[in-house]
Amino acid sequence: MSRVLIIEDEVAIAELEKDYLELSGFEVETENDGLVGLKRALSEDFDMYILDLMLPGVDGFEICRQIREEKNTPVLMVSAKKDDIDKIRGLGLGADDYITKPFSPSELVARVKAHLARYERLIGSNSPENDVIEIRGIRIDKTARRVWVNGEEKQFTTKEFDLLTFLAENPNHVFTKEELFREIWDMESIGDIATVTVHIKKIREKIEMNTNKPQYIETIWGVGYRFKL
Ligand code: CA
Repeated sequence: MSRVLIIEDEVAIAELEKDYLELSGFEVETENDGLVGLKRALSEDFDMYILDLMLPGVDGFEICRQIREEKNTPVLMVSAKKDDIDKIRGLGLGADDYITKPFSPSELVARVKAHLARYERLIGSNSPENDVIEIRGIRIDKTARRVWVNGEEKQFTTKEFDLLTFLAENPNHVFTKEELFREIWDMESIGDIATVTVHIKKIREKIEMNTNKPQYIETIWGVGYRFKL
């Protein structure tokens, strides 16, 4: 859930903003003093800040400036005077949006939603890299659930992918067919350990040059299988 911090000294306005944002599914905190609000804004994680301009303690200009020094979180500035908006723009404080009192609560909610959506897209584009296993020409992208063998992508069924990934994640470890069946197929599955043999055969056809002399998944006779490192 997105967390919003409202710094607003007029308690009735702060509560009104809070009520509407909470109705829209946001988690909302309010502070009525500029200095206390600034400290919270910098020390806690919020997804959006709504700052009134004229505040006791520290004003909205300064709070916005200090937030921008540390965070890219969206900031919506609220002011009672249209002239102030021009002033804020002129100062180049890095606020993302401006709204003049009195405003309709639905207008406020719409703007908050728009900024959060934009900000989440921005963060999403910097998301961490995929979780990838690479062993001797085999590349398994666990996040995308895709497999390449010597640069060529191969198609695997869900269970084939799970089985290959499990073995590749535990190289040089011998697993019995029973262990593999328990690991990959849940208890409700119909089938038996012969299913494991069938899937190993299918996987080998996709990854091995010569399925009679497997280089990746070895058969340990009388025991089971292991992925050779
Ligand atoms: Ca005020």
